[in-house]
Amino acid sequence: MTERIDFHSDITVVGAGIAGLWTAKEFVDQGLNVAIVEQAPALATGQTTKNEGWLHAGSYHAAAMDFENDALSVARKIRYGHEKILEFAPDAIDHVDTYALLGSDAAADRAVERWRKAGIPFGRMADMRQFEQEGIDTERLSGIFSVEDKSVNTIRLCEKLADYVVNNGGRIFTRGLFTPESATTADLDIDDGAHYRMRSNNGFLIAAGNGTRDIAEVITGEEMPMRYFKSHLLVFPRMTRDNYFHVDGKETGFMNHGNVSVAGLNRDSINLSVADYEVVPEKEEMLYSALVRIIPKAARYVRGTPDIVGVACIKPDIDRGGSQPGLDEEIIDIAPGYVGALPGKMTEAPHLAKDIVEHMQAGRHFIADALPQEHVVQQHYVVNPRPADIWAANSRHEYRPDGDEMLDPQV
Ligand SMILES: Cc1cc2nc3c(=O)[nH]c(=O)nc-3n(C[C@H](O)[C@H](O)[C@H](O)COP(=O)(O)OP(=O)(O)OC[C@H]3O[C@@H](n4cnc5c(N)ncnc54)[C@H](O)[C@@H]3O)c2cc1C
Repeated sequence: MTERIDFHSDITVVGAGIAGLWTAKEFVDQGLNVAIVEQAPALATGQTTKNEGWLHAGSYHAAAMDFENDALSVARKIRYGHEKILEFAPDAIDHVDTYALLGSDAAADRAVERWRKAGIPFGRMADMRQFEQEGIDTERLSGIFSVEDKSVNTIRLCEKLADYVVNNGGRIFTRGLFTPESATTADLDIDDGAHYRMRSNNGFLIAAGNGTRDIAEVITGEEMPMRYFKSHLLVFPRMTRDNYFHVDGKETGFMNHGNVSVAGLNRDSINLSVADYEVVPEKEEMLYSALVRIIPKAARYVRGTPDIVGVACIKPDIDRGGSQPGLDEEIIDIAPGYVGALPGKMTEAPHLAKDIVEHMQAGRHFIADALPQEHVVQQHYVVNPRPADIWAANSRHEYRPDGDEMLDPQV
């Protein structure tokens, strides 16, 4: 094997999803010299680009989670993240106006009470009939509320984060096989044949999403109690001006991104011990039915045709019991020099990053004295396409805000 090149950094982040990229930004802001290692050719190949692109504002979690204390705590972290993401990447926002749908007076009362306690802004819509023009079935609803949730382009967000890190002296390695060695060293083998010895003064942050378990097991030689929750999304032609989400279990919500919408089903995940991305037809059918319930005109798009595509996505968590995936951030001390991190939601990543910095410092100061690296021109990096981008590339549909139809301009 060719000789390993020493690469010095103050900290190395493994995994370039939202957790790794945002925490890298936070480290840069602390004056650290950061290296990021991503195993794939593109950045953010996991959940971050496969999700609904819902920039939560806390409205859903405050209202929907079972236990009030958990709900308010998660909602506060999400609100923190919402504001930070909005401030950092306002140009990544796809659509602002979003409405929460409540199916009963009891659910609406609970939502209002929780929103007030969590300081979440909302406005009750006095006239629900205006939403019929959008195609929403208001007969089944007892309340519609304007909320601060938004749809966000996760590609744009990740690109901005990567640019920020690189423009502040960071280095991103893609196609990298990371092998931990000691608290401050690891080997990195790039598939173009380059071999590095990563020397990282303050150790390593493992933000590898579904890959976190494998890395942790290599480091400790022990099994990590991680679970994988599979949920489904539907990608389909945009039908409405605004974004909508129902708060009740087994109901759906959808976020609009240009000509495309992406829907997910509430509380519908399947607990797996090994991650797989096969779409489960019964789950896809449930999601489709829920979509047609809130917006009956969705029935014009037939499931199983290229118009409406089902996708599966996996969320990992640490097994603490319970049948639903954990929605709170997780910071895991894997071994000296190795800290693992999982956000409960993408929108929580800025709060997670703040907590990681505090956790890793733990009363001491970061060592910020990595040797200056030979100047390299950062190779071009790309962010993984979203299912919505793949759908749009194969579709001629175009959303017309002045009508309620999704028109095919070629017809
Ligand atoms: C169906 C679904 C919908 C969701 N919708 C939303 C939503 O709309 N809004 C929201 O806020 N949250 C949403 N979430 C949650 C959110 O997407 C995740 O919490 C978040 O994206 C996780 O980010 P991450 O960086 O931890 O992981 P990931 O995005 O999975 O990134 C991990 C990265 O690490 C890399 N990696 C893995 N192993 C290695 C290795 N050995 N070496 C180097 N790199 C490695 C991967 O290639 C990947 O790029 C959703 C989750 C699911 C499952």
